[in-house]
Amino acid sequence: MTGPRILFLLFVFFSCAPRALATEVGHETVSFTPSVVIAGSPELIRVYAAGAKSVEGEWLGRKIYFFADHDSWVALAGVDVEAAVGASELHIVAHGDGKDIDLRRTIEIHLAHYRTGALSVAPQFVEPPPEALTEIKEESDLKAKVYAASAPQPLWHGNFRAPVASAPTDSFGTRRMFNGKLASIHKGADFHAPMGTPVHASNSGVVVLARPLYYEGNCVIIDHGLGLFTLSMHFSRIDVHEGQHVKAGDRLGLSGATGRVTGPHLHWALRWQGAMLDPVKLLRLNLDSVR
Ligand SMILES: [Zn+2]
Repeated sequence: MTGPRILFLLFVFFSCAPRALATEVGHETVSFTPSVVIAGSPELIRVYAAGAKSVEGEWLGRKIYFFADHDSWVALAGVDVEAAVGASELHIVAHGDGKDIDLRRTIEIHLAHYRTGALSVAPQFVEPPPEALTEIKEESDLKAKVYAASAPQPLWHGNFRAPVASAPTDSFGTRRMFNGKLASIHKGADFHAPMGTPVHASNSGVVVLARPLYYEGNCVIIDHGLGLFTLSMHFSRIDVHEGQHVKAGDRLGLSGATGRVTGPHLHWALRWQGAMLDPVKLLRLNLDSVR
């Protein structure tokens, strides 16, 4: 085959390919990564719906905001660690020119095998003294305000990176007993981090909280947009300020042992629309091809 003929065929192939895809009207798909959904897992949801102008969803009482990504629509969502196992209704609607496409699905939520552990902390963190209750209430209100004001577009780009170099412990979802009572669920991942270890932003976003809190100690919360936040706790020193734009790898502060802790470490958490998700699983999602 001659050179010009190959070039001509390549031209025909590439100029026809997009048209072939665009003609697949009525061929909508919804895909999940990971494909097996378990309680506490973040999920990348991708919707193909030809001609859609916008896509929105709702799952377990939480609104899902999709954004356009090449020829599809994408959302980072997930299932809360305390969600009941079994069938769940996922509502997705693709809005097209004058017509809505109903893409509802029944999604099976599978049991996650989290551990049970015991932990001893200072008594004031199990039953806070009366004088601390006002402070705790104010902090709770502040966090609620912060979580309600997520950016209306995704602020993250590509893969999320681990906040510290050390490997995370297998601690997310652990049912913990504090001093023999008050069972709680550990809604983040603990990373080994000797006092003073630099902690980095896992992806780009805006610092929406950077201050000491009663339980969290010195805490930094980053808004990644569309209801997605990462939280880093127990810092000995905070190096960012509220309102600051950060990118992946920027230093947020130094690890420490402030707040409800037994020793220096980094508690790193992932929150999406009020659902607490395993941040370590977010690190395994391949997002480099998104956006
Ligand atoms: Zn922790």
